[in-house]
Amino acid sequence: MSVQGSCHCGNVRIELPRMPDWVADCNCSLCRRTAWRVAYFPPEQVTVSGETIPYIWGDRMIGIHHCPVCGCGTHWQTLGEDFGKMGINARLLDAFDESTIEVRKFDNAE
Ligand SMILES: [Zn+2]
Repeated sequence: MSVQGSCHCGNVRIELPRMPDWVADCNCSLCRRTAWRVAYFPPEQVTVSGETIPYIWGDRMIGIHHCPVCGCGTHWQTLGEDFGKMGINARLLDAFDESTIEVRKFDNAE
């Protein structure tokens, strides 16, 4: 059963094929500020609708998207190279409950 999500204002809507089995809690310089919980899916399984703005930094491998209206971080995706996956901010999913899902700590601090 597919899973829906949206940013706070509803401008951006996300659809995934299912709830993720686990999400990442990353401590890199960006994630520790934004507190994303990232779910990974192949891009062809993800539908993102609505305008988003990418933030591009560092090695310029990915764009980290947010809603231009309410500011919620929505997803990241590659800028060219095929990663075979993209990241979705699971906090936006309608039924997301961090107490019921495995949270894996990613150590990407510099
Ligand atoms: Zn929004």
